[in-house]
Amino acid sequence: MLALDALKKYAKTDRTALVNREERLSYRELDARSDAFARWLLNAPEDRSPVVLRGDKETALLPCIFGALKAGRAYVPIDTVVPGDRAVQILADVEPQVVVDLAGGTLSWDGKVLSPGELETILTAPGPEVPRDQWIGEGDTAYLLFTSGSTGRPKGVAVTAGNLDAFCRGVLPLYPEDGGVVLHQVSYSFDVSGCAVYAGICRGMTLFTVDHGMAADLGACFAALERSGLSLWVSTPSFGELCAQSERFRQELLPRLERFLFCGEVLTHDLCDTLAERFPRARILNTYGPTETTVLVTAAEVTAELRRDSRPIPIGAPIAGVTLRLEREGQPVTGEGETGELLILGPTVGPGYLNRPDLTEKAFFTDPGTGLRGYRTGDLCYRKDGMYYYCGRVDNQLKLGGYRVELEDIEENLQKLPNVRRAAVVPVRDGEGRARYLAAFLLLREADGLSPLQRTIRLKKEAAPFLPGYMIPRKFLVVEAFPLNVNGKIDRKALAARLEETP
Ligand code: AMP
Repeated sequence: MLALDALKKYAKTDRTALVNREERLSYRELDARSDAFARWLLNAPEDRSPVVLRGDKETALLPCIFGALKAGRAYVPIDTVVPGDRAVQILADVEPQVVVDLAGGTLSWDGKVLSPGELETILTAPGPEVPRDQWIGEGDTAYLLFTSGSTGRPKGVAVTAGNLDAFCRGVLPLYPEDGGVVLHQVSYSFDVSGCAVYAGICRGMTLFTVDHGMAADLGACFAALERSGLSLWVSTPSFGELCAQSERFRQELLPRLERFLFCGEVLTHDLCDTLAERFPRARILNTYGPTETTVLVTAAEVTAELRRDSRPIPIGAPIAGVTLRLEREGQPVTGEGETGELLILGPTVGPGYLNRPDLTEKAFFTDPGTGLRGYRTGDLCYRKDGMYYYCGRVDNQLKLGGYRVELEDIEENLQKLPNVRRAAVVPVRDGEGRARYLAAFLLLREADGLSPLQRTIRLKKEAAPFLPGYMIPRKFLVVEAFPLNVNGKIDRKALAARLEETP
């Protein structure tokens, strides 16, 4: 695997792999600690189950990731924003025998749960290098990422070592030649973190950590960034926007910054214009890709010309190795400017969903003409002047503050609440069509006698064990009956229109 080869290569140098607040980990230490974790895993050779890693950005997580891969095992990151109940659903799906819980021991699971103390003993135990023939193979699952699923349970997306190698080959031409410092802010449970963890390590970069606590306190975050020597920014546009709200966020704060790489949701003209003005020495890249096809598959450099264009910022052209097609009702869409569903083909397309052959079958395919593996994205796009433009979804999936959310997932979970018979969730969008927050329309089992504010407070509290904070609607509105569309389904458009009428 390319990232493991690179780790070995840079372990012979004095480079720093990770900076996490006051802690630093050199490539040499990362290599030694990941070998130690792999040795410990290999003590139980009969166990091939994925290793679950629960935490935020603790320094020990990176050695665990590379350790799992060196032992030929997949890992499953679960961020601390995921509530215990949902985390246990993931565990039930994965059936791990080893769970690393750095989130304060809140997880109830029958298998082995390693505490931070136990993990430290394992990571610092001396021993020989792990032979390469134990390392993960090309076709083996490297990680499983759980994303919002329309059934109300998160679904596990598998990505292989070969997929990650293909991603690295495709993305590295966008990276600086060698070394530098890359922002490590994106959660491990969101695949855009692979831009730091895999491509960054391949280039011998230093991963500069911004954890949840720092991201929530921009003053502290900027004080740390000022000393970071950051050369490559990787984040969702949402985090970029959050930072850009402060006037301090400019080239003087990050004098070595050469590139912004955005991924995961719509990048707006506004943000590009602000950054172009404040960071005259930095290039801006808009990239796009679903988890199912490994981190990102397209890229566009946002030039001054594209910024002046009245069309949205394009998601760009495919990276090396990736083939894109557009399709409508099973027929290829080839005309310039014609909209169709985007199909992604090539070596970054993953094997599918864990334990869900039905969903895998629906979204993934093998192209009969080329033999390439393909994935139907559900994203509507058109092509113009060699660039792809994103223009919405075919379903109820959306991005909220950079997080991928299925509205049905939220509805299913709200229906678990004691007094909710039926729930319908709609996004409240801004002028550029992006979801800003969610509103839930509820049919109650019985009148609750509460004021709207009291009801909202109660429902938010009741929903917290089931849903991460970003999936909990901001507004709750009670209905006597739902408006239905011609197919007899709940008419979300009508509900969204009602929302515009209610202040
Ligand atoms: P995820 O699997 O969380 O990476 O989410 C993938 C989805 O996010 C895609 O299918 C798109 O709907 C959306 N997305 C990702 N990148 C972009 C982008 N640059 N512009 C618009 N939408 C994007």
